[in-house]
Amino acid sequence: MSISKHYQPQKIENKIYKLWEKSGFLKTKISKNKKPFCIIMPPVNANGPLHIGHAVFVTLEDIMIRYQRMRQKNVLWLPGVDHAGFETQVVFEKELEKQGKTRFQIPPKKLYQMIFGFTQKNRKIVREQFKKLGASCDWSREKFTLEEGIIKIVYKTFKKLYKDGLVYRGKRIINWCPRHQTALSDLEIKHEIKKGKLWHIKYYLKSQKTNFQKQEKGSKNYIIVATTRPETMLGDTGIAVNPKDKRYKKFVGKTAILPLINREIPIVASNKVDVNFGTGAVKVTPACDVIDFEIAKEHHLKIIEIVGKDGKMKNVPPSYQGLTTLACREKIVKELQEKGYLEKAENYTHQISVCYKCKTPIEPLISEQWFVKIKPLAKAAMEAVEKGKIKFIPEYYKKIYFHWMKNIKDWNISRQIVWGIRIPIWYGIKNGKIKKIIVSEKKPKLPKGSDYLKKETDTFDTWFSSGQWPFAALGFPKNKDYKYFYPTSVMETGWDILFFWVARMIMLSLYVTGEVPFRYVFLHGLVRDKDRQKMSKSKGNVIDPLGVVNLYGADALRAALVFGTGAGKDIIISEEKIIGQKRFANKIWNASRFIFQQISSSKLKTQNIKLQFKIQNLTEADKKILNGLNEIIGSVTKDLDDFQFHNALQKIYQFFWHRFCDLYIEKSKKQLQEKALQEETLKILLYVLLQSIKLLHPFMPFLTEEIYQKLPIKNKQKCLMVESWPSQKPKI
Ligand SMILES: [Zn+2]
Repeated sequence: MSISKHYQPQKIENKIYKLWEKSGFLKTKISKNKKPFCIIMPPVNANGPLHIGHAVFVTLEDIMIRYQRMRQKNVLWLPGVDHAGFETQVVFEKELEKQGKTRFQIPPKKLYQMIFGFTQKNRKIVREQFKKLGASCDWSREKFTLEEGIIKIVYKTFKKLYKDGLVYRGKRIINWCPRHQTALSDLEIKHEIKKGKLWHIKYYLKSQKTNFQKQEKGSKNYIIVATTRPETMLGDTGIAVNPKDKRYKKFVGKTAILPLINREIPIVASNKVDVNFGTGAVKVTPACDVIDFEIAKEHHLKIIEIVGKDGKMKNVPPSYQGLTTLACREKIVKELQEKGYLEKAENYTHQISVCYKCKTPIEPLISEQWFVKIKPLAKAAMEAVEKGKIKFIPEYYKKIYFHWMKNIKDWNISRQIVWGIRIPIWYGIKNGKIKKIIVSEKKPKLPKGSDYLKKETDTFDTWFSSGQWPFAALGFPKNKDYKYFYPTSVMETGWDILFFWVARMIMLSLYVTGEVPFRYVFLHGLVRDKDRQKMSKSKGNVIDPLGVVNLYGADALRAALVFGTGAGKDIIISEEKIIGQKRFANKIWNASRFIFQQISSSKLKTQNIKLQFKIQNLTEADKKILNGLNEIIGSVTKDLDDFQFHNALQKIYQFFWHRFCDLYIEKSKKQLQEKALQEETLKILLYVLLQSIKLLHPFMPFLTEEIYQKLPIKNKQKCLMVESWPSQKPKI
């Protein structure tokens, strides 16, 4: 019955986790008599050790799971590992760089195997780290996004989309990272404000003398266009003005001569031109800009691709060929100036797009890619939320969700990387051109009229597969888990991936299963340090969750992550805050130790104390603490039902520390001296301790389980984790 003098989490936590594993309670058994409660864990990227953000989601989800398990629901918390396509490839590339290699030197098959090995090694490490944090998930059901069953489901979804005409291959302007050499979705680019120049360039009209020096001042034989990227003029195939712009009415329909290379280009009118930008006349470079591409389509302008996938100039006169875009820009500006085409260069602050990983400026390129027509899926996904089939916590994310969904554009799902699920497409080629597209995982028969078959080498955007995670992980459509647990109860994740992931899960799940994937979306905030700064290696303010666990225990870290932070709010964490919760853990330990000592030295020397007491024997102090406990049980239960975890923890903290320890335990010392009161007082001490550790268990599972294991009471369960949640009793 006795416990050691000092609370040492290092001596307890591993032992307790083993106890849970041995008990079999982590393994979910479907029981039709119980209500299901299911959380599908956001699959962790298997490309490195856990960071503090992981500790946040493990804590919050484990709180929900442990609470619902004690409410006697049939809980399933299904862990998963994500191959995390581009993200993992970027991490792996950095590893290669350290060895002086690049991925382009390694054959694709070999590269795939190398990255596979890398993720499997990480996967094991991550699993052990989750255990250290106390995650009470069902490891027997752990899933990996690249396992056969999952890929099958992903392929099925792609086929369905293709059959329904919701996926297509298109030549479009896409976001290209020249460094990583892959297309990126609109969500994978960041915007940076950059100081640059706005160059004003004269384009002379045809049939006028092109030697400007002989023209009179003020004559209208040229048109001035403004651009931030003069090098792209080599790909100009037109000039566009707004039809409402009176300044340029007489130019429309005429032909201009492209400076330096003398290409004849038409002047066209398009509503897409912003009259307020620059001079109101813009150069049209269809291969380098989304709007220009659209104007070119309207007016059947030529498309000349002048920037290659390596970010260097191509299809341009020899003196520019092979230059980087920046070197080409310098050369062009110099030549324009020398030849008198440059009207002026203004300082200009503008927004540029960069790769979210390497910050390289994004090159908008024309490329053949696979797209999902997302609007019809978005419509259904908005309806589901409108009808309240899915609720957001905090609620204000609903508005943000709608805003994004209303403005959604077709989703580019193909990536030019090997690490991922290959798009199951084959091309029947005739005379070097695609004759037929066949959706098939395996090599199909050669279609009639084709010379040979070509395999698609692009892989899916990783979010295309993780967007199907809730039903794929449960084994849609036939698995028992799917039938019993789907739709799941809660999706808990960071608000920063609301669009990347949550919105896509809602869209794809509704499309495939006809049902919402989850009832609640709980979004947590970002972790920041005590000065509200984002944590980053360069700032040196990163808190390593496992280092903290070794020092202060997982319980202290978990409590610190929840304490004081509501849903969606920034999570402020500091060593001091964790130490504060470690002190709370000490307090619980010491109070338990005191109670155990009192029992040992009393006549109640048994391991089987019945926690029943007669109301008529109770003192005022006894009644007060019991009523206080009851109140807390009611309000903590309500808080947990309402996802107000921080409020729940704060209430238990206040109650245990101040009302139980400071007041009642102090009073009990006197009562224990009185023979007539001793037994009742001991029972009340034990009872309040038991109920308190039950309430605390979801937050501090290790410490509370350790104390529970030592409680000398009758009718104990094998583990606290499967005990019944306390219920509120009438006031005494
Ligand atoms: Zn990049």
